[in-house]
Amino acid sequence: MKIEIKISPENLNLPKEIQDGIPVDQMQDACPIATQDAEVNEENKRVAIAEHQYGAPVNPEEVCGVCSSFNISPEIQDCMQDDSGEVGYCQSLKFMCSAANSCSIFAPGGPMTGMDD
Ligand code: SF4
Repeated sequence: MKIEIKISPENLNLPKEIQDGIPVDQMQDACPIATQDAEVNEENKRVAIAEHQYGAPVNPEEVCGVCSSFNISPEIQDCMQDDSGEVGYCQSLKFMCSAANSCSIFAPGGPMTGMDD
């Protein structure tokens, strides 16, 4: 049996922020909140730029559009009201990113289309 003890500061609702070490999407009407709230999206984008060098790709083959975090499933496209494929929801950094951009935590294997992942 594995017993896990978590110590967290008072007033921090840890389960809301983190679940088993994986950042959880804050949802609004079944959509990630960043797809519904422009301010949240902008803040998360700001963090992506400041901490993960989000922007024009260094390597043109390592772009958001083929990153494993780039979600363009039909459900997410409905949330974003954009089915162009040029915009996706970044599951790692929690904002709507451009298929042509990239960041320092790019990982191959995407996009997520909801068809085979
Ligand atoms: S993690 Fe992937 S999808 Fe998200 S911003 Fe970085 S390269 Fe783009």
